[in-house]
Amino acid sequence: MGTPADVAPAHTHTGPDGSGAWWRELVRSGSDAVVALDPRLRCAFVSDAAHRLFGRDGTEMLDASIDQLVPIADGTSVLERIDRLGDQPLSFGVELATARGPVRARVVVRRGEADLPVVLTFLHHEQIGAAAQALGRKVELEHLIERVQHRFIHTVPEEIPDVINWCLAEVGVALGADRAYLLSFDHEHRCETMVHEWAAPGIEPELGIYESVSWDLVPAATERNNSSWVSAVADVSKLGDEWATDREFFERSGLRSILELPVVIDGEPVGGLGFDWITHLAEWTEDDLTLMGMLASSMAQLLGREVAEHELAHRATHDELTGLYNRAGLLDALRGTLASTQHGSNVAVVMMDVDRFKVVNDSLGPAVGDALLRSIGERLRTIVRPGDVIARLGGDEFAVVLVNGPDEPDAESVSDRLRDEMSDPFRFAGRSHMLTVSCGIAVAVDDRITPEELLRRAGAAMFRAKEQGRSRQTTFDDQLEIELAHRLEMDQRLRAALERGEFEVHFQPEHDLATGTIVGAEALLRWRSDGELQAAASFIEVVEQTGLIVEVGRWVLETACAQAVEWLAAQPMERFVVRVNLSARQLDRPALIDEVQAALERSGLPPERLCLEITETALMRNPEVASATLGRLDALGVELAIDDFGTGYSSLAYLKRFPVDVLKIDRTFVMGLPSDAEDTAIVRSVIDLAGALGMTVTAEGIEEADQATALTALGCSRMQGYLFSRPMPAGELTELLAGQFRDSALR
Ligand code: C2E
Ligand code: MG
Ligand code: MG
Repeated sequence: MGTPADVAPAHTHTGPDGSGAWWRELVRSGSDAVVALDPRLRCAFVSDAAHRLFGRDGTEMLDASIDQLVPIADGTSVLERIDRLGDQPLSFGVELATARGPVRARVVVRRGEADLPVVLTFLHHEQIGAAAQALGRKVELEHLIERVQHRFIHTVPEEIPDVINWCLAEVGVALGADRAYLLSFDHEHRCETMVHEWAAPGIEPELGIYESVSWDLVPAATERNNSSWVSAVADVSKLGDEWATDREFFERSGLRSILELPVVIDGEPVGGLGFDWITHLAEWTEDDLTLMGMLASSMAQLLGREVAEHELAHRATHDELTGLYNRAGLLDALRGTLASTQHGSNVAVVMMDVDRFKVVNDSLGPAVGDALLRSIGERLRTIVRPGDVIARLGGDEFAVVLVNGPDEPDAESVSDRLRDEMSDPFRFAGRSHMLTVSCGIAVAVDDRITPEELLRRAGAAMFRAKEQGRSRQTTFDDQLEIELAHRLEMDQRLRAALERGEFEVHFQPEHDLATGTIVGAEALLRWRSDGELQAAASFIEVVEQTGLIVEVGRWVLETACAQAVEWLAAQPMERFVVRVNLSARQLDRPALIDEVQAALERSGLPPERLCLEITETALMRNPEVASATLGRLDALGVELAIDDFGTGYSSLAYLKRFPVDVLKIDRTFVMGLPSDAEDTAIVRSVIDLAGALGMTVTAEGIEEADQATALTALGCSRMQGYLFSRPMPAGELTELLAGQFRDSALR
């Protein structure tokens, strides 16, 4: 209802035509009891509410003198009071002469316009009471909501349920409701569930009784997709026939009034804040509705925070792509399992890695790769038993924790089944994808093992399976443990070696038997450990596995380039190239191209003087990526060689795919020359093929003179081996080259 001050003083609210007729009409039909007096202080205008207040119609009131209608005004006459009226309104108690007899009221008297100079607005005590009450409740609710908001802000996640219950009780009482509750909506299944409830004393709680209420029972709920829906049913029995279904449902539930407001998170109505009246009808005002709207939005903020916290906690332990656990989640679960298993009951981890997943990812794109990973995750779910935990540890690595006391053979048979399942083609996007996996198994036979250790063991076993040629499984055992320990120790020593500058680059010359000259030198890593020189073969594997090769390899490259520049400056050698080995790890890194370029620029070595050697195995590990990388290296102008050719399993036809200039025939073939017919045949066909593809062939590991003779006969004149020279420090090769220069000068 409007307060007296809301009623327009006539002189400030004249209408567009200046007549003021429009506001008179407004006031006449409004809820305020207004009487306006003409200059003679007789009633010239009476609002409908004033007629009702006085219980008199127009004929009785119009033109009546005001003191007839208001005989007593605070002990003096009303005329005397009006006489004192200035610019400020006056307010005083009066007694009205109504048709029902004298009625006490308050009046506000203010100035009007020229023909209606005095306007009186009567406030009957009943009206005052209602207004004050409404105002009082509004203030009370406002304070309550402030308190609620304050508490919400300071609520930590685990207190949220308690705080919501507290809030429902407080607001329920303040609104005079019989029940206050919070609903959670399930838009997919079109139903809602009560998640929090407060019920007034004597009211049967509903929480947990209706698991969920289908929206078909309450058609009004179709609105629940809409974030601004409010359902305010002041009197259920008055719901029209179009709401018959709703009405029946409400009546069956004993409800007389219902107020429900949406709880909206991120623009989506996720639930409802509701109030029921059962013992009596509700009385709410517009203000109440506004305040409840504010409450619902505070509630949404609080719940939104709860959702976010849950989400964060979930994300911390789950893999987003597959929905499986992630490493942290798996470790958590493993910790719980290990702690709860009785002594003598085993826990096993089967770790699984997809073989050559990178090839799929690189060749078919990450979207297909992701889809494949998801399908793998789904297939894993179908294999394990309830209670077993599945995780994606990152990339293409998965793990399954077997909880029901498996021994080694059990775990191995699960791993068998797993590999079997994965070997079925995966079909999507109209294509089918075949893959194999490598598995590692570790069984915890006592409870002293940490989850991290168990996972590490399974990982080591899996790594071993990969090393042994993939598509197989290995179980962790003592032997593996010893090797791991050794590797770990080596890794630490090698890192220290790098820091202490214990690495050296030696060079092994490459001879061209046709011309009798040195046509190149291969840079080979050496480690001076405790005064003893270690060849690369004894430690390079560890350097590669630990990734240390990236740093060491860069250093070798820089050193070799700088050294080659020195040799070339000392004497012009038309065909001399320096060869540097690259490992698979280096080849995988996009930064490699820049590093090679930088080494060339820094040293000033012309690109064609550098040859990069890549083993056949490194190339075939990931042919697509290797091919792209080689293309970019080729574009730099450097020479590219396939090292250890023949030891991989690639077909010769593959060679055409790579921009390779040189083939290095591996020592294992050279060893069989000239007696072994098969080796001879292979070497011959390799030399022929290389010739056909326009590649240069060189042979390595020549130790015997007849090997050299056989190679020459087969058409390979470039050779490297102990027969000619062992790898040597740069200084020694400098002298060798100088000698060769002198010799040629003498000739
Ligand atoms: P590789 O590139 O095939 O190098 C040839 C290996 O055979 C060298 O062993 C060399 O010392 C050895 N060798 C040379 N002539 C003969 C011979 O007549 N008889 C025998 N039995 N061996 C011979 P090394 O230096 O121990 O290197 C082993 C492997 O380590 C290399 O094979 C290469 O793949 C890798 N490697 C060496 N240095 C580096 C490097 O700086 N970076 C990378 N990524 N790998 C390297
Ligand atoms: Mg090499
Ligand atoms: Mg080699």
